[in-house]
Parts: sequence; structure tokens; C-alpha cells
Amino acid sequence: MRDVSKLFSNGTLALKGMSLDVRAGEFISLLGPSGCGKSTALRIIAGLGSPSSGTINWPSSRINAKGLPEGDVGFVFQDPTLMPWATVFDNVHLPLKLRGVSKGDARDKIMEGLEAVGLADFAKSYPRELSGGMKMRVSIARAMVTKPRLLLMDEPFAALDEITRQKLNDDVLRLWQQNGVTVIFVTHSVYESAYLSSRIVVMRARPGQVYSDMDIPQPDG
Ligand code: ADP
Repeated sequence: MRDVSKLFSNGTLALKGMSLDVRAGEFISLLGPSGCGKSTALRIIAGLGSPSSGTINWPSSRINAKGLPEGDVGFVFQDPTLMPWATVFDNVHLPLKLRGVSKGDARDKIMEGLEAVGLADFAKSYPRELSGGMKMRVSIARAMVTKPRLLLMDEPFAALDEITRQKLNDDVLRLWQQNGVTVIFVTHSVYESAYLSSRIVVMRARPGQVYSDMDIPQPDG
């Protein structure tokens, strides 16, 4: 990302001149207080929103006509966003289905993905039968089933209890190590970012926005 800014139509300047280089295989945490623009940055990287100014540069061999790395990015949202009427198996099939891969042809990949998150026995279950942590695991399996080179996660475990969260952190670390995927992980947890990542990128709110009431100590001189 080079000098990326995002001005929403309501006048909110969500990002101002953000630059970031991501190397293949890194596990980056984007750390910062609520409202500092972490989600906005992630969505722009994913192509889910466009920057008002600045550029996103991908390795030129992997981009489509829109300048986006199609099929190469997996996204995990804070909410698992599963289809309630579909089984776990069918939920994980979705990204492959959208690419024209039938259930039969996708079967091995789907089961491999469910095994990787410990849910192979729940392929025929429906989301309502699963705990919050299990739903999040399905969401991760769905994001990984296309074998993306880049996995973007937007505060994926914020709604979960500490123990479940710790287990899922270990799942994510294992997936990262086994798949060689590059990860950008948005969090406001200093602990989580230190536990997970090879690099922590700290984002700050604009002065006067979030920190206006806080007394930030200044270095002498
Ligand atoms: P974070 O993920 O760090 O909590 P966000 O990227 O969600 O921060 O939001 C950054 C700022 O942009 C916030 O002030 C938020 O209210 C604002 N914002 C986010 N999305 C929109 C939108 N679609 N329209 C207007 N303002 C938005």
C-alpha cells in the first residue's frame, strides 16, 4: 500500500496516507484502537472498497483486469457469516462452487479443510448446532478452501471467550505454518498480536479523534 487514504462520503477520513509493504509468508497483525481504520484498510486490501487516493500494488503476475488478485485472497469476518440453511460441508463448498467446482470434485478439499480445523465429524451438521468457536472454525475452513496466498482476518475472535480464542489462535498459527499463507490479522488485542504475528503494525487514531481525552506523555524536548 502506498499513501492510501480513504474519505467516506459522510466526511469521515478513515485512513490518511497509509503505507505498508507485505512480504510473502509474513503474519502481520494490524493493531490499534477501535475506529482507527483497521477494517477500512483490510477491506481496501481485499478489493471490497476502493481507496480515495493512493495505490495497492500486487505482484504483477497475479492480478486480473480490475487490478485485483482474483481467487488469491481469503477473508474471515468478525461474524462467521455462515448460511444457516446449509450444512457445514456446503458452507465450506461455497467459494469453490462460485468458481464452478462441483461438490463431488470439491469433496476431498472440503474434508481436508474441515480436518485441519478439527471439524471433519461435523460435515453434515448445520450452523445452529455448533458453538461460536466451531462456527468460526468453519468460516476459517471456508476462507482457506481455495488455498489463498493471502488470508485477511478482521478481528475474527473478538466475540469469543478467552479459552476458545486461545485455541483458535493455535489453529490459525498451525494453518499459517502448514500452508505458507501470508496473513494480515486485525486485532485490538496487544496479547493476541504478540502471540500470533511475525510483525506488528500499529495504527493510531488521528489526534483529536479517539485520544482527545487522554493525556499522552510527550518525550522531553
Ligand atoms: P476499526 O476497524 O479500526 O475499528 P474502521 O475502519 O471500521 O475502524 O473505521 C474507521 C473510521 O471510519 C471510523 O470513524 C468509522 O466510523 C468510519 N467508517 C467506517 N466505515 C464507514 C462507512 N462505510 N461510512 C462512513 N464512515 C465509515
